[in-house]
Amino acid sequence: MTVAAMTAAATLSAQSYRAVSPDGMTYVEVSQDNGKVVYTAGLRQVNSTDTVDVPMVLQSPLGIITSAGTWTSGLTLTDKSHGATSGRYTLRQGKQSTIDYNASKLIVTLKNQQGKSIDMEFFVSSNNVAFRYNIPEQGETAAIVVEEEATGFRLPADATAFICPQSDAQIGWKRTKPSYEEYYIWDEPITTLSQYGHGWTFPCLFHESDNGWVLISETGLTSDYCGSHLSDVTDGNLFTIAFPLEGENNGFGSTAAQMGLPNSTPWRTITMGKTLKPIVETTITWDVVEQLYEPSQEYKGSRNTWSWILWQDASINYNDQVTFINLAADLGWEGCLIDGGWLTNIGRERMEQLFDYCQQKGVAPWVWYNSNGGWNDAPQCAKQCMHNPIVRKQEMRWLQQHGVKGIKVDFFGGDKQETIRLYEAILSDANDYGIQVIFHGCTLPRGWERMYPNYCSSEAVLASENLYFSQGFCELEARHACLHPFVRNTVASMEYGGTALQKRLHREPGKGNTRRTSDIFELATAIAFQSSGQNFALTPRNLTEQPKFEIDFMKAVPTTWDETRYIDGYPGKYIVLARRHADKWYVVAMNADGQPRKIQFDMPEFASKTVTLMHDGKDGQTPTSTRTKLDRRGRVAVTLKPQCAAVVTE
Ligand code: CA
Repeated sequence: MTVAAMTAAATLSAQSYRAVSPDGMTYVEVSQDNGKVVYTAGLRQVNSTDTVDVPMVLQSPLGIITSAGTWTSGLTLTDKSHGATSGRYTLRQGKQSTIDYNASKLIVTLKNQQGKSIDMEFFVSSNNVAFRYNIPEQGETAAIVVEEEATGFRLPADATAFICPQSDAQIGWKRTKPSYEEYYIWDEPITTLSQYGHGWTFPCLFHESDNGWVLISETGLTSDYCGSHLSDVTDGNLFTIAFPLEGENNGFGSTAAQMGLPNSTPWRTITMGKTLKPIVETTITWDVVEQLYEPSQEYKGSRNTWSWILWQDASINYNDQVTFINLAADLGWEGCLIDGGWLTNIGRERMEQLFDYCQQKGVAPWVWYNSNGGWNDAPQCAKQCMHNPIVRKQEMRWLQQHGVKGIKVDFFGGDKQETIRLYEAILSDANDYGIQVIFHGCTLPRGWERMYPNYCSSEAVLASENLYFSQGFCELEARHACLHPFVRNTVASMEYGGTALQKRLHREPGKGNTRRTSDIFELATAIAFQSSGQNFALTPRNLTEQPKFEIDFMKAVPTTWDETRYIDGYPGKYIVLARRHADKWYVVAMNADGQPRKIQFDMPEFASKTVTLMHDGKDGQTPTSTRTKLDRRGRVAVTLKPQCAAVVTE
């Protein structure tokens, strides 16, 4: 069979339809099985004589239960259209700035026993399958509630998982969870039960021994749906789409989704790779969504100083904020984030003076807000400013008048549609006032970098604040850093707040938790963690205590990327990753293992060039920067001590 023949989406039988990616190597097959509609997704492998299907998501259920009809059994399946779609778009704040996509499309119709129909749309590109339900008006019914999805993902029983549990509702700091701030399970059997019994949050990474890797997530989530997650495994090896918990958002609002018709569900995405390269480099999250409004101005990436991360609540006062505005100016960074507590401790009048001072120093202010509302008890101010459009617009007008360029909104109520509406409302209003938005204590963003042009980044991860709070978290810092590029950060921007260069994590010298990673490891996270807005953990002491080359690196480090290339690694053990900003490549190699790791790779763009190699010295404790001429292959060979790293740039 030629590639061209395979590329054409072929009908296998009357009730089985197939779409194959334009390169012929990724497929999805939808079929009818005793009145149920099921699908299989996989990669195609070239053997010596033939090209064969290697299923990665085994036969799994499809279907949806709504107030206007149920499409889970007694179904008739017909195909509606086969086609192709391709295009190019730009993404200001992601892992790649110009993205070409090239996919096959398949739309099938599911008709139930009452004669009512919905469509399913499949998008199949190299290493990716995405699908969603398209629901037309049902007779005179133009408004429905989606009660449940039957959508599932069945994996080989011996697959292992790198996944993060969905938390109970209304637990944690002042009843602010769930907020995607839980510990992952690492490479454990898929039958492992989740800590809270509610399943697992997106994205979910699975290892299928010799066949490779599967990453499952969700994208295109708007105010027209709730955020979903995966159930615990049922039936031995089947994960299904689960909706939010009753208790989220202080128990208020439905766990279901309400929509006007015609409409579509979010996309379910499956990225598959024989190696981890397609997992780390995938752009499927953005390929299938659209920009939802025009940017009111040109938004740019921002490096911000941030007093709160190491100086904590007590630093939210006028003088300390001046110190951190000065630090931003000294570093040549774009902004300074003034964190929670400012309304009480500084007040609006003095904040306006700080904003004026920012203007004098050429530093953009970013300001923290509590999202509440009636869904958490968090006392940090300013609060009750973002939860309804009247106060929100007043607040944003004030921010705009004083040159504020960004807000960080914290402590959201969960994944219910009620809360997703708030995220979208904040983003849309903020764009009207020229303000970028970072979310904290929040859900996973799902395609938002492309959908909302002033969206910047989200936490949705156990982030750097935990280094301050817990020595145990410091012990795990390197492991997490070598996990996130494969999972959390590959589907969405991740506002981690990292690159702490102090060895002891406290305002006072000699106090606080001890960082276990090397200096170069911390510099490497500035490249490895993708977020167009970075609130780095540098403090004034760093300017005198660190080697000059470290500070020079941080002065110049970019936060937006034109290209991202996976080179080598294993989730939670090590990673070698390259990112390009304009003409300049940055390559990081990071080791989280307890043993030294020898790393060797070729970087063709560095061939025969003299590069800057930053490493931690033979003892792992002597940060060093050298200029090194590479050979004609651009070969880099380094041995990394545990929790050490190397950074190579032109
Ligand atoms: Ca947090």
